[in-house]
Amino acid sequence: MVKAVIFTDFDGTVTQEDSNDYLTDNLGFGKEKRLKVFDGVIDGTTTFRDAFSQMLDSIHTPFPECLDILTKHIDLDPGFKDTLKWSLENNVPIVVVSSGMRPIIKHLLTSLVGEDSINKIDIVSNEVDIHKDGEWNIVYIDDGPFGHDKSKTIDRYKRKYEAESSEKPIYFYCGDGVSDLSAAKDCDLLFARRGKDLVRYCKKQDVPFREFDSFEDILASIKQVLSGKKTVKELMEN
Ligand SMILES: [Mg+2]
Repeated sequence: MVKAVIFTDFDGTVTQEDSNDYLTDNLGFGKEKRLKVFDGVIDGTTTFRDAFSQMLDSIHTPFPECLDILTKHIDLDPGFKDTLKWSLENNVPIVVVSSGMRPIIKHLLTSLVGEDSINKIDIVSNEVDIHKDGEWNIVYIDDGPFGHDKSKTIDRYKRKYEAESSEKPIYFYCGDGVSDLSAAKDCDLLFARRGKDLVRYCKKQDVPFREFDSFEDILASIKQVLSGKKTVKELMEN
């Protein structure tokens, strides 16, 4: 029986910097154009799916080279390793729910936390198709405007855990961006990285959340909830 589940975004949440933004800004059409394309997502003239494809299509560096570059430049959140260790010892599954690409996530996690551990984390995200000429493109996991509808994935997991147990687990969600908002609505406690878009969107839409600076904060809060020292409601008052 599982008493809690930690759903987490990957880029900018488990890692300090977004790997797809890094590739676009340094190998693709650059930060200025990226922000301009994403203005269209915010004002509703383009979908996240199309904007994300545009930015990735501007990268012509072969995929294995992209992986090497990311390994050198992307760091893990300083508290993630301990959170992962604790989650494995305490039977609290971590599920990575990402709008990014699975081979990048797997590669980064393998180099940052080691192969043993990552086999114990579920990763749900998009895939990559590598062509014969070295070009590559993202393959979205579903047909919707987000490419990966995170709330659908979370629903599927919730049904699975609730079928296995008589008591409903406590669901935590950790994120930093706009794609995390709909995902987080179905969870009991949302952690939003301080200073990032998700905080702004939560305030705008009156969604309760708890700010975090690193997974150290997240783990401390989760322990408080599971030991009964604090309620989810108390923590969401920040
Ligand atoms: Mg993110």
